[in-house]
Amino acid sequence: MGCVGICGSDVHYLVNGRIGDFIVKEPMIIGHESSGTIAKLGNNVNNLKVGDRVAIEPGVPCRTCSFCKEGRYNLCKDIVFLATPPVHGSLRKYYKHAADFCFKLPEHVSLEEGALLEPLSVGVHACKRANIGIGSKVLILGAGPIGLVVLLVAKAMGANKVVITDLVQDRLNVAKSLGADEIYLVKRDVSEKDQIKSIHEIFGGEPDKTIDASGAQSSIRLAILATKSGGTAVLVGMGAPEVQIPLIDALIREVDIRGVFRYVNDYADALALVASGKVNVKPLITHNFKIEETVKAFDTSKSPESGAIKVMIHLK
Ligand code: NAD
Ligand code: ZN
Repeated sequence: MGCVGICGSDVHYLVNGRIGDFIVKEPMIIGHESSGTIAKLGNNVNNLKVGDRVAIEPGVPCRTCSFCKEGRYNLCKDIVFLATPPVHGSLRKYYKHAADFCFKLPEHVSLEEGALLEPLSVGVHACKRANIGIGSKVLILGAGPIGLVVLLVAKAMGANKVVITDLVQDRLNVAKSLGADEIYLVKRDVSEKDQIKSIHEIFGGEPDKTIDASGAQSSIRLAILATKSGGTAVLVGMGAPEVQIPLIDALIREVDIRGVFRYVNDYADALALVASGKVNVKPLITHNFKIEETVKAFDTSKSPESGAIKVMIHLK
């Protein structure tokens, strides 16, 4: 293994011991945003060779169910996904993975970038689900790692204007430095109506694509309400299992609400974005640690004061 990035879900398992119905009952190796160098091959592997550096797509589906056959393998019920109990993760020196879920990195793409293809693929999938293209006006809610990768991909896909929101100014500053056209600081004491008004003023109109990357109810509501009639609201953020939303408003204005679950057939596209230079993920890495410093790496990742966006653990 080469690099493993820390994701919010890793921290969640560590701190809370569960995410929804996935409960950590026994010690579990963490990590699923990873890359490495091929040390050994299975007998029938012919797409890779020893010494190749690869990004690892962490979910391997059953390949035979209807979802897999339709090409929507992210919905496969039997998908085996790294660091999702009871499946161990990849934060270890050696790890075995299905060869067709390993993506060979070109020489000029680093192992760090390879690990970042995981969150980047979430951004690619979300932007594809939103049908972002030339001329799109895109509102992103939440400027955490996921909101930021959505921003990078939306710009690369030709969005005309991208506005991103957050409760935290520091995160917005990062978003601005990564290419957000405008930023909007959400203040809890401002009414929903006034927030929508301000966002429309910033756009000089209404966004036709909105992507929630916060999971907060207030944000999901804003995603629906601020979207132009006939537009699309894509929900990536996962907060409470049930949230109150203005469904009739969405219905009468034909705002399509679309979910996102991880990614599907997006790794190659994420790699192409990085390899071609259309997307630069390197600035997302704010901290680097060696595997021996993993405890410190997690402390940094979970501390709001650290200013961490992406914490990377290096295995060699
Ligand atoms: P994060 O917690 O680092 O980022 C969330 C950001 O949203 C933070 O910067 C926070 O300040 C901001 N925020 C919170 N409430 C807000 C509000 N009301 N308005 C605007 N901003 C607000 O998390 P992340 O790693 O960036 O992930 C984002 C979300 O995406 C999480 O809920 C995560 O579980 C989810 N996620 C979903 C998928 C999927 O497959 N659907 C995949 C990965 C992550
Ligand atoms: Zn399947």
